[in-house]
Amino acid sequence: ILELAGLRKSFGELEILTGIDLKVTKGELAFVIGPSGSGKSTMLRCCNLLERPTSGAVMLEGRNIAASGVRLDPVRRRIGMVFQSFNLYPHLDALGNVSLALRKSLKLPRAEAAERAAAALERVGLAERARHHPAQLSGGQQQRVAIARAMALEPAVMLFDEPTSALDPELVGEVLAVMRELREAGMTMVVVSHEMRFAREAADRVIFMDQGAIVEQGTAEEIFGAPKSSRLQAFLARQA
Ligand code: ATP
Ligand code: MG
Repeated sequence: ILELAGLRKSFGELEILTGIDLKVTKGELAFVIGPSGSGKSTMLRCCNLLERPTSGAVMLEGRNIAASGVRLDPVRRRIGMVFQSFNLYPHLDALGNVSLALRKSLKLPRAEAAERAAAALERVGLAERARHHPAQLSGGQQQRVAIARAMALEPAVMLFDEPTSALDPELVGEVLAVMRELREAGMTMVVVSHEMRFAREAADRVIFMDQGAIVEQGTAEEIFGAPKSSRLQAFLARQA
């Protein structure tokens, strides 16, 4: 459903992604690990064209969305993104944040947007918090609002960039639980995270990136249990 082919990205002289080939199939949870600065965020941002690839293709549902002339708004609607920082509007309550996205992106009328937003908040377990503003919500709840906002647009793929890194440890679990449910509902997901336990239990595939390239990929068992490359072995040893 999402495919990167020969994806390269440079910032000035510096080549950050040196040729990424990756296929994510429908319903798959692809989990990306790698050292800081290896290009994980840049790769995710290229997937929804927050960054323009220097070369290579980003195929979404069979179409190269990195080709010139492709309109970005409809493409971004098909790809939901959840960041480490939740990026909610502080002056809007949870319902307002989710329904604004629906009204802006899908041009839904106010009432319909509110209805769909309420349903999305219910799915992330926040039905009773719909009228709370971000400042009245815990970090975990704010991140669940952000997930509800992305999910409400019914994207083809959801990208997560360290969705639990900004959270206190006791709040991580509730966000991972929502992600687990999304996966069980069949959502296609690409997740950059350090939550190795979550990877072991929920990832269909683990992808190890280093220095702008995919060095190794496989099932969680293969990657964590029998890492082949010395770079992956060294990375995992540092995590422990
Ligand atoms: P982390 O685990 O710390 O989030 P990462 O794997 O997500 O790291 P990226 O954020 O993709 O890494 O960054 C990869 C490299 O690209 C870094 O060296 C970074 O400094 C560089 N980089 C990222 N964005 C830009 C930019 N807009 N301009 C210049 N360099 C950038
Ligand atoms: Mg990053």
